[in-house]
Amino acid sequence: MTRRRFYAPPEAFSPDGRAAQLSAEETRHLRNVLRLKPGDEIFLFDGAGKEFQGQVDTVARDTTEVSVIDQVDPAQPESSLNLTLAVALVKGEKFDLVIQKATELGVTRIIPVMTSRADVRIKGDADAERKMTRWERIALEATKQCGRARLMKIERPKTFSDLVRCGDKDPIAMTDASEYACAPVEDRSDVRIMFAERQGTRLSEVLSDGKGHGGKGQWQTVTALIGPEGGWADDEIDQALAAGWKIVTLGGRILRAETAAIVAATLLQHRFGDLR
Ligand code: SAH
Repeated sequence: MTRRRFYAPPEAFSPDGRAAQLSAEETRHLRNVLRLKPGDEIFLFDGAGKEFQGQVDTVARDTTEVSVIDQVDPAQPESSLNLTLAVALVKGEKFDLVIQKATELGVTRIIPVMTSRADVRIKGDADAERKMTRWERIALEATKQCGRARLMKIERPKTFSDLVRCGDKDPIAMTDASEYACAPVEDRSDVRIMFAERQGTRLSEVLSDGKGHGGKGQWQTVTALIGPEGGWADDEIDQALAAGWKIVTLGGRILRAETAAIVAATLLQHRFGDLR
């Protein structure tokens, strides 16, 4: 039987780790949708990669007390590819779709990017906050459905130049080994690919470069950047090239931004991650 999985972040666990409390939202799902009762078996994932078997103790209006029985293997292991998808802010529903599909495709991190031709502008902090809350909810639902125990990280929207001009203080290079258990830092190399509707080389050429990276024939940390519906401005492509990004143009057709994001994640997971 598939596991009945609930999200309980690390702070929801008691200090000794033997009990956990579910949020009001998870409680509603447990009680009203799945109709679970004290004594029923459930699984908890902490969003940081751990999963636990538990038993419902008490169900109140806004919280559920759970006894933690044991740590178990996550329902699905994480991909060994540490994949960041940086996607221009495309219109509401399309970005929602990208968040959902990226979660299912095992993307590690999403960075919404403000580009010169972006379809959506962020109107201040409150707007950014609202969008983040919505995206986090979509990612959480997709995480539960697809069996991941680690939440996809959603960064606050960044400007194109902040993303691209990163130098050695690269805000998107992942060097924190504790964050990702998949590979030791010394085996990592950070490869950045801008997917562009023009001016790029074929993906296969860029991928064949990848053979030498990390000395293992594998890239372990890749950032894929996808542009907005209006495409990239010339100077954005120039900036990315100057900052050392590889520019890739796929095949003969122009894809919608959301399609391009899903395709980029799929191709990279196929070549370097767990979509084999
Ligand atoms: N309006 C533009 C197309 C933008 S497509 C035009 O008509 O030329 C939106 C984004 O999806 C692009 O910026 C790029 O990041 C990605 N994309 C679409 N088709 C692509 C392709 N064939 N190769 C690589 N990236 C592509």
